[in-house]
Amino acid sequence: MMQLAPTVAPLIDSFGRVHDNLRISVTDRCNIRCFYCMPETEVKFTHRSEILDFEEIERFARIAAALGIRKLRITGGEPLLRRELPLLLSRLAAIPGIEDLALTTNGVLLDELAEPLYAAGLRRLNVHIDTLDRARVLEITRRDDLDRVLRGLETAKRAGFQIKLNAVAVKNLVEPDIVPLARFAREQGFEVRYIEFMPLDAQNLWDRSKVLLADDMLALLSSEISPLVAVPDPDPRAPATEYAYADGGGMVGFIASVSRPFCLNCNRLRITADGKLRYCLFAIEEDDVKSMLRGGASDQEIAALVRRNVSGKWIGHEINSGKFVAPPRPMYQIGG
Ligand code: SAM
Ligand code: SF4
Repeated sequence: MMQLAPTVAPLIDSFGRVHDNLRISVTDRCNIRCFYCMPETEVKFTHRSEILDFEEIERFARIAAALGIRKLRITGGEPLLRRELPLLLSRLAAIPGIEDLALTTNGVLLDELAEPLYAAGLRRLNVHIDTLDRARVLEITRRDDLDRVLRGLETAKRAGFQIKLNAVAVKNLVEPDIVPLARFAREQGFEVRYIEFMPLDAQNLWDRSKVLLADDMLALLSSEISPLVAVPDPDPRAPATEYAYADGGGMVGFIASVSRPFCLNCNRLRITADGKLRYCLFAIEEDDVKSMLRGGASDQEIAALVRRNVSGKWIGHEINSGKFVAPPRPMYQIGG
């Protein structure tokens, strides 16, 4: 049980950014192989014994909540592959101080798991779908799971989830998918978030010329569907810039990490499935929480590590400068 004092100073870095958002990766395994994240073959997964168990994850989340973390997002790898995930979610939902719990998934197992996840207290889902075109699904994910994802979306919607769609925007590939996906989302009452392709793939395929830029997608949607009007996000520190269709047909968001970096608003920390703490998706260095959790460290000692990690946070990634160095681990190992 938490041993920290109930009122503590916020988790603040040397640039004055208060951190209240933690992303927890629960596995590095995945049932598909998106080319911008994983290699096609010979993926090296972490041995099960090196992955944090539910007690360790819950303990860390309690320590983080006592330090001011209010929002948790569960991710991976593919989090729905983690056995008994609803049980973990119900434990995280019950942590005092946690006000928001969300999960990011590729949706392949959502048809089976949407109801148990809802019953566990989860209400918000981001479902990753780049295209409704079967051939491109296969090209991107190296698997043919479109029907399962669409079934999963239907079941999750029926269960009552608030759903956003995540679509990775890769230039010279998904241009034909931007408008059909937006139309589908409008019909279904989902919000799409188009995410600029970031240099986090396992095969070093990224370069700037492969990024489909938010401004280009904005212009396309505005001309093909309805003009888009910028709306202030209720959470100005959220990564997406939000727009509303002028015809009242809902919202769309852009996570423009490359063309409009949002580091100055960052409030996020991450813990990887193997228990490493990262202050940035692109961080080069990590702090080893797992060794502390398994080595008899007190809550105070772990909290001090979290504070040190945050206070050493850099001002932001340098994707747009010659100084950028891609992190040593790809997306699926970090947790997007
Ligand atoms: N497997 C789940 C999924 O795909 O949603 C959760 C983990 S995945 C790493 C989290 C998010 O990262 C997904 O929405 C995915 O589209 C996004 N993503 C993966 N690789 C990316 C890249 N290189 N650039 C931008 N977004 C990426
Ligand atoms: Fe799996 Fe998500 Fe990475 Fe795609 S983006 S390979 S679904 S972890």
